[in-house]
Amino acid sequence: MAIQQTLIIIKPDGLVKSLTGNIISRLSEAKLTIMGAKVVRVTRDQAARHYEHLKDQPFFEELIQYIVGDVHKTHRVLALVYQGDEAIAKIRDIVGETNPEKANPVSIRGAYGRITTSGVFENVVHASSSPEDAEKEIKLWFEPEEIVEDLYPVKEITLDNIKKTAWA
Ligand code: UDP
Ligand code: MG
Repeated sequence: MAIQQTLIIIKPDGLVKSLTGNIISRLSEAKLTIMGAKVVRVTRDQAARHYEHLKDQPFFEELIQYIVGDVHKTHRVLALVYQGDEAIAKIRDIVGETNPEKANPVSIRGAYGRITTSGVFENVVHASSSPEDAEKEIKLWFEPEEIVEDLYPVKEITLDNIKKTAWA
């Protein structure tokens, strides 16, 4: 048994195509446990950190515009954390290959992804590809209190003079 965590992001194309329910149903075939879920308005900074490994690619700028939602005019994504035995490979299998034209047609990306005329893979979902990436990504997208269990070690910190928005 190798219990793993994985981060899934339903990208803006998945949201505008009304695929959220369908994608979550497909992911549930892996019989994993959902640990966290939230709708996120993605900042440029967060998108750039998430895709840091691609920063030298010619499509990087377009990829960032895609993930923050500028391309689809919907500034939100749905971020999910799942946990279970071999979670990463099980989810990547259901999600399919990066290039939607090469992905198995019954995978999520094969069924719903497309390649734009400028060559970006609009492939509907992100899924972590290794335990190291999953840890880095989950820590980038979620605070400990937003996940039902502490998946990684935590520490207590005291914050002074923190300005935050509250309900008026
Ligand atoms: N991507 C792209 N063209 C490429 C490679 C990647 O448009 O040649 C985009 C695509 O949306 C992909 C994301 O960049 O999902 C991250 O790329 P990565 O290589 O990490 O693939 P993934 O882990 O998402 O399968
Ligand atoms: Mg990747």
